[in-house]
Amino acid sequence: MDELIAQTNDSEPSHHPRATTGWVEVIAGSMFSGKSEELIRRLRRAKIARQKVQVFKPEIDTRFSQDHIVSHSEMRHESANIRSAAEVLAKVEADTEVVGIDEGQFFDNELVRVANELAQRGVRVIIAGLDQDYTGKPWEPMPQLLAIAEYITKTHAICMKCGQPANYTQRTVESEERVAVGGGDMYEARCRRCFVPHADAPTVHPE
Ligand SMILES: [Zn+2]
Repeated sequence: MDELIAQTNDSEPSHHPRATTGWVEVIAGSMFSGKSEELIRRLRRAKIARQKVQVFKPEIDTRFSQDHIVSHSEMRHESANIRSAAEVLAKVEADTEVVGIDEGQFFDNELVRVANELAQRGVRVIIAGLDQDYTGKPWEPMPQLLAIAEYITKTHAICMKCGQPANYTQRTVESEERVAVGGGDMYEARCRRCFVPHADAPTVHPE
């Protein structure tokens, strides 16, 4: 590392261990919009290029697997479970080039600082997550992450009522909890017109 710094231009910050700049990518959308699939696709491409990749997901999400992120289409990539955003910083190794994080909405705003710090170090950070909760409210820290990201991809599902592009996650069972982990048994993708921002409105059209 000393050699590396010696070779860099004097005007560059001396704590910068890499020649390349890092950045933050956010993949945001409703459930069933292919967020995890898109994350896994990007991680796989990085690995094909022999880049060192580390992937994390919150411990809360054990729907499909303890040690993999898995898309609804059953693409999978190995991952480590973490309880807090700070744990990401502790677990990212010095030579890691790409960090993937799934289900970003299950972390607190600390994830914003962590993403910025990793990018500052030269890491490519890719975070996927739900940008709204089941009532249609922006789900922090995703809005904050969208603000700091260099690159944003908004993924859309297909409305399960009318077939239009869907931007909302409709909860179809009664629960007032913001976090209720489930899949097609508890949620549907809906467009703006068909979305009903209540937990107990599985089949009622808003008109
Ligand atoms: Zn619709």
